[in-house]
Amino acid sequence: MPKVVIVGGGISGLSAAYYLAKGGVASTIVESRPRLGGVIQTERVDGCTIEAGPDSFLSAKPAALELIGELGLAGEVIGSNDHLRITYVRKDGRLIPLPDGLMMMVPTKIMPLLTTGLIGWGTKIRMGLELLRAPKPKPGDESVAEFIEEHYGREAVDYLAEPLLSGIYGGSPAELSVTSVLPRFVELASRYGSLTRGVLAERAKAAKHPAAEPAPLFRTLKGGLGQLIEALTAATAGLVEVRHGRAQTVERTGAGFRVNLHGDWLSAADVVIACEAHSGAALLKDVDARLAELLATVPYSSSMTVALGFDAADFHPPPQGFGFLVPRKERGRLVACTWVGTKFSHRVPAGKVVARCFLGGMDDAGVLDESDDAIVASVTGELREIAGIAARPRFARIFRWPRSMAQYTVGHPQRLAEMEARAAAVAGLHLAGNAYEGIGIPDCIRMGRRAAEKILAR
Ligand SMILES: Cc1cc2nc3c(=O)[nH]c(=O)nc-3n(C[C@H](O)[C@H](O)[C@H](O)COP(=O)(O)OP(=O)(O)OC[C@H]3O[C@@H](n4cnc5c(N)ncnc54)[C@H](O)[C@@H]3O)c2cc1C
Repeated sequence: MPKVVIVGGGISGLSAAYYLAKGGVASTIVESRPRLGGVIQTERVDGCTIEAGPDSFLSAKPAALELIGELGLAGEVIGSNDHLRITYVRKDGRLIPLPDGLMMMVPTKIMPLLTTGLIGWGTKIRMGLELLRAPKPKPGDESVAEFIEEHYGREAVDYLAEPLLSGIYGGSPAELSVTSVLPRFVELASRYGSLTRGVLAERAKAAKHPAAEPAPLFRTLKGGLGQLIEALTAATAGLVEVRHGRAQTVERTGAGFRVNLHGDWLSAADVVIACEAHSGAALLKDVDARLAELLATVPYSSSMTVALGFDAADFHPPPQGFGFLVPRKERGRLVACTWVGTKFSHRVPAGKVVARCFLGGMDDAGVLDESDDAIVASVTGELREIAGIAARPRFARIFRWPRSMAQYTVGHPQRLAEMEARAAAVAGLHLAGNAYEGIGIPDCIRMGRRAAEKILAR
């Protein structure tokens, strides 16, 4: 009998399997899709590396780089081309660059703030006066919109927080929990009062111990994040069995658990639930009804990426910066667009341009039901209207991700604490995945690794 069954073969489940195998423990991954990797999927089209889901990970969180190093892929790591990083935001029908010195939505340089056309004078004055805020005790959890509006005003929510968070979570700042989504900002605001003062103070501290070379904001692998999935699969071969199919229920037995896979029962001493929380909810009803209920309350957004390949010769002038964000107030269907070849080297050969477009999110799950032709027509139409791109795409690839991105809504910290306590009370049950302590790849790897460590320690 397999000692460990892992439900979900995305990066969370694969990381758990890898660290178990490293500790000499075999596992069985149950994965409903015909391939491993979950939302991580890389394709080669016309010489271009196309990321169907995530394209990179934050450098600041170490778990991804550690795993990549262990897998012997350190030489494949590349950083984002930060010297070319300009991100535009649509305002009143025009594309305006985010002001230099902005850290997420926190301004840290005066001149770019004064001269930007992205926000009006009322907001600029308010952002300046924010420096005078006195420290206040931490309030309970609140929404990102409430928090940012209190510091910088409504326009900062509409033209900074909303487009930035839509591009990451596909969610609304009015719903997302500031404690879960921007924990560092909450900490700085309670310590310094002013968020701007807090960020500047942290920067000053960091400047006393400068890194030899500043780390790029994002890192990825030359050939795409699919390389990570291939390397994990290769590294675990022999100690990991993969069963393709949808796990239907998990039940407790005297010795541990049994997992129902289309009538085939897999026994296990430990089970790692590494699938989306809504799937986990359906699985765990018989193990812990309250835990299942809590898992079912984690909302998920549905999203879509559309990669359009163009001939560079059709662009006059070439695309500027990393790309652009479209705030909800000005949005049709397009949420964001990245110029892949500008953001990362090695991804797009000379003579070609690839636009990676994001659609969907909490407001527009319906886009996933549209036909490919209708999507290409609306994306090319919006690229023309927003960025003046008249070029005709030479190829288009569309990827649909239904209910794949967890939303840490207001109250998530309490929900998380209860979910963790309930899971901890069931010996051998482990949770890992983007519904808990971070949606990014490094956090998912960290949670998968932690599940493995707990099992190895048992
Ligand atoms: C479009 C998009 C872009 C993103 N961009 C970035 C980015 O640039 N950087 C970043 O760090 N993060 C990004 N993210 C977030 C990050 O990629 C994900 O949060 C992370 O990869 C999730 O990994 P996971 O293993 O927890 O879940 P998933 O990848 O969703 O894997 C869960 C797996 O469980 C399987 N499953 C579900 N139910 C069952 C069942 N009952 N039985 C068997 N199998 C089941 C599913 O088929 C799936 O393969 C992005 C996400 C999306 C969708």
